[in-house]
Amino acid sequence: KGNLMQGKRGLIMGLANNHSIAWGISRACALQGAELVFTYQGDALKKRVAPLAESLGSTYLLPCDVSKDEDISNVFEDIAQKWGKLDFVVHAIGWADKQYLRGRYVDTPREAFLTAMDISCYSFTAVAKEAARLMPDGGSLLTLTYLGSERVMPHYNVMGVAKAALEASVQYMAADLGPDNIRVNAVSAGPIKTLAASGIGDFRYILKWNQLNSPLQRNVTIDEVGGAGLYFLSDLSRGVTGEIHHVDCGYHLVGMKNPDAPDI
Ligand code: NAD
Repeated sequence: KGNLMQGKRGLIMGLANNHSIAWGISRACALQGAELVFTYQGDALKKRVAPLAESLGSTYLLPCDVSKDEDISNVFEDIAQKWGKLDFVVHAIGWADKQYLRGRYVDTPREAFLTAMDISCYSFTAVAKEAARLMPDGGSLLTLTYLGSERVMPHYNVMGVAKAALEASVQYMAADLGPDNIRVNAVSAGPIKTLAASGIGDFRYILKWNQLNSPLQRNVTIDEVGGAGLYFLSDLSRGVTGEIHHVDCGYHLVGMKNPDAPDI
């Protein structure tokens, strides 16, 4: 416990359950004194999100499907009324039809491409625009990305393309919002077994491959991503914006299979 986030209020988008990356970040921030509001996608998830939020001292929950402009504006209207301002936002949302998270990227139909881009990239832009209006003294916006944006990963396909767009949007928004002292960053997390990851073909193989070949020879945890999240959302990183920060046990630097690793 500490007080790095004392007096700060933040919005967490993308909490589904206690395996979510958003949960690791929420916990890290709450332990440092942050006050949190959570969005949930649909009533089915509300039942899971409510007890988690409550365990961090929050009963403030709002519905939001980020494919709907109205849902996004309702969230920020509610926060404007209840809190007046906001210090940080976590966007831990991504989605693509799992039918296309296997096989060849080149076979992605237009509709699946546009939906993946809309939910996984544009939503952060839409959220950032609304959030900035509630940050008169500055703030910090954080999203989550994956190495599949920079290199070809089996089955990641259209999500890799959407993450590349998301990372470019982090940089453009960092430039747009910098003059208002609003920082925009992304954590590029290593593979973690979550609901979203279960849609990716051969995910268990990807986890094992990363474990055997990353410099730290293991996979990251949501608490480790939470620690990096805390850094970006707190004043510790007040001089940092437009960064794509890898929290992946070092896997991003690896050029070849570890020759000592067993075959899988
Ligand atoms: P998760 O399933 O716990 O979270 C994904 C969240 O996205 C869920 O809460 C879901 O409700 C939300 N979501 C999807 N479509 C939505 C919509 N239309 N409106 C509102 N919310 C919507 O999985 P996670 O792995 O914690 O994913 C969080 C973020 O981390 C995603 O952007 C994901 O791409 C990214 N990420 C995950 C990994 C990994 O290996 N798990 C690695 C790097 C990056």
